[in-house]
This record gives sequence, structure tokens and C-alpha cells, in this order.
Amino acid sequence: MDRHFTEPLRERGVRITPQRAFIWQALASSDDHFTAEELWERVRAVLPGLEISTVYRSLEALAGAGLVVESRVGEGPRIFEARSAPHPHLVCEKCGRISHLDSAAGGRILGALEAESEGFETHELHIFATGVCADCAEGTE
Ligand SMILES: [Zn+2]
Ligand SMILES: [Zn+2]
Repeated sequence: MDRHFTEPLRERGVRITPQRAFIWQALASSDDHFTAEELWERVRAVLPGLEISTVYRSLEALAGAGLVVESRVGEGPRIFEARSAPHPHLVCEKCGRISHLDSAAGGRILGALEAESEGFETHELHIFATGVCADCAEGTE
């Protein structure tokens, strides 16, 4: 395992296990969102015998250390991603794909929020826009 992927865990006081390190690697090396099942699929390729319950426990440890953010879109599954600057999510109602507005747009929204919220200190910002992505919109016309 690359130190690049174990170091953040060590820094945050997360006990390093291969499961946690590989799950963190899968999240940190992608700017995508994953369900626990998707991570399970990926990490099982390198750790056969990995249990889904271990994936959930590892995600909880990583989230508790502030490395991973969990969100949920409506009634959809829990999704996980490596923590980054707050960013709005665009959720396609047709294909289910979740994409990001860049963090500059997220920063502007957060700035507006802070300016308007009279001292409220924001820790998490979950913004989801639902609609139809450009690919799906193209397919319907
Ligand atoms: Zn995201
Ligand atoms: Zn779509």
C-alpha cells in the first residue's frame, strides 16, 4: 500500500487495516461517489473475502475521522466520497449519475450562505439538484 494512502489515516488517528486503506484508496483516487456496494465490488478485487459489513464499518471509521463524507439523495442509497471542498451535486433522474459543480461554484454558494446566515457556522453543505443530465436530455430528443 502506497504511503500516500495510509498517511492521511495515520494523521487522523484511524487505525490502519488493509480494508480501510484500500477503501480509502478507492475513494481518494476518484472524484466520484460510491455506494458501499460499489466500493465492496472494487475492493473485493484486491481483498477477496471482504465482507460488506466491514465496508460499512470502515466507512464509518473514515467518516468519523473526517476523511469521508456521506450523503443521501432523497430516498436513494447512502453515497460516500472523499472529503473535498463543499460542492453542489447534480443528480440525473434518468441514469442516476451524480456529477459535481466545481468547487468554485460550491464556494460561491457557501459564501452566500455565510453572508446571509448571521453567524451560523456551516460544517457540512449538502446541495443536490435533481434533473436530467446533458447525455440523457440528448437521448430523448
Ligand atoms: Zn460530491
Ligand atoms: Zn442521465
